[in-house]
Amino acid sequence: MAGLADNDTVTTIGEGGKRVWLYPKWIRGKMLTARTAVHWLLIVLLLIGPWIDIGGHPATRIDIPGRRIYFWGATLMATDGAYLLFLFGFVVFGVFFVTALFGRAWCGWSCPQTVFLESLIRPVERLIEGEPSKRRKLDAAPWKGSKFVKKGLKYAFYLVVAGGVGTTFTAYFLGRDGVIEAQLNPLSHPGGTATFVIITGLLLFDFAYFREQTCLVVCPYGRFQSVLLDRDSLAVLYDEGRGEPRGKAKDPNAGDCVDCKACVQVCPTGIDIRKGVQMECIQCMACIDACDSIMVKLQRDPGLIRLDSERHISASLAGKGKTDAPAAADSTASSAGAPAANTNWLSRAFRPRVVIYGLGLIAVFSILVFVLGNRQPVGLDLHRRSGVAPYVQMGDGSVQNSLELRIQNRSGEPRQFTVELVDEDGTNLLVPGGQLTVEAETTRQFPLFLIRPSELGGGDVELRVHDEQGFTDSVSIEFLAGSRPADDPRTGGEA
Ligand code: SF4
Ligand code: SF4
Repeated sequence: MAGLADNDTVTTIGEGGKRVWLYPKWIRGKMLTARTAVHWLLIVLLLIGPWIDIGGHPATRIDIPGRRIYFWGATLMATDGAYLLFLFGFVVFGVFFVTALFGRAWCGWSCPQTVFLESLIRPVERLIEGEPSKRRKLDAAPWKGSKFVKKGLKYAFYLVVAGGVGTTFTAYFLGRDGVIEAQLNPLSHPGGTATFVIITGLLLFDFAYFREQTCLVVCPYGRFQSVLLDRDSLAVLYDEGRGEPRGKAKDPNAGDCVDCKACVQVCPTGIDIRKGVQMECIQCMACIDACDSIMVKLQRDPGLIRLDSERHISASLAGKGKTDAPAAADSTASSAGAPAANTNWLSRAFRPRVVIYGLGLIAVFSILVFVLGNRQPVGLDLHRRSGVAPYVQMGDGSVQNSLELRIQNRSGEPRQFTVELVDEDGTNLLVPGGQLTVEAETTRQFPLFLIRPSELGGGDVELRVHDEQGFTDSVSIEFLAGSRPADDPRTGGEA
């Protein structure tokens, strides 16, 4: 494989550190079709979430004042932090697992930056300004006539997309009515307006100027992916054993690579994948389509650039007797003709890191399913009232404890709860108002009073809370029996 020195510089940094602008070519192919389909599915899911309702709520919304999150039919409330933690763990282990197995699938296929840039921004740019040679000419041309029109049209489109995404992103927090209100009257929601302006501005900067630099310079994932990958992870790779030495198609001593550079011309990050695995590769697979189309034209087998593991490619190289890497035991490559795809899935799947990530993923997912499956529609918490004496000795000799019952109704309908004592041991329960009504997806606190003859002393008291929808649960608290009179200043004298 090529030495590190060949990859030492970033292709988009030119003489004196100047930015080298890329004009990637667009080429049809199986990978492009599949990737575009995935990208558009994600674009639609990302953009419609806050604008459509599921079960009377936005499909996706992070309602900070209401302290709840709506996610495609599920409602998580402020006290559901544990679920969010497991969800986060699931996403993290999921990314680790998929990366160890399939390489940077996230970057090329699901990252919002790639999704919008490759499947919306670049196609429209191509439509307005034409293919790379025309775009290059247009950029070099002086500012007049058609350049103004084309550039104006292009930037107007960028602004619409950036504004649309900025609006939707803000709607994730403010809700659709809130974001519309904020846009009609920016001062009514300063936070929302600021979010909209910042997101729109950043996206516009990214679409119009920064582009692949986000992946190369800013994105942290590109940096730490190397620790998630190993020689058995799938990556977009050039089969050097088959392709080298490069030469003309008619040269019988040349390999399959005709050095047409089609793979380089389509690369959105401007790299030459023939130099080996590079941090800049976002695994978009455009070079696979490009090279396959050349191979088909030359009536050779596709797959000179393909999704494969480094170990398998190296094994193919070793088979050709020009290895710079150890041959692998799992080699199934042929040294001539068509590449043998790395089909040894079993050995690839049972690598230590894949097993560890996979077990972590299964564990977090199982816990998440278990806790969500056992999630009660109602949450109860019985505690002493703050700012009030924990117990008070009444004039008739009985002792009163002032409590507070917090009821969280996680269901989508209002509920009426009844509270009663579990044991008839002489304790009296006083519930101001009798029945306790809690609106849908709301938490409310209710004062309760326990009164006992002082001779009964302290001990645990259990309360049963139930409603007509069949919910029943119990909570308990220790009854505090004291001897302070009601007018004792230390008790606050509350009766
Ligand atoms: S090398 Fe190929 S897969 Fe990697 S970013 Fe460039 S075109 Fe995409
Ligand atoms: S597209 Fe294929 S044949 Fe052309 S330079 Fe790239 S690897 Fe070689």
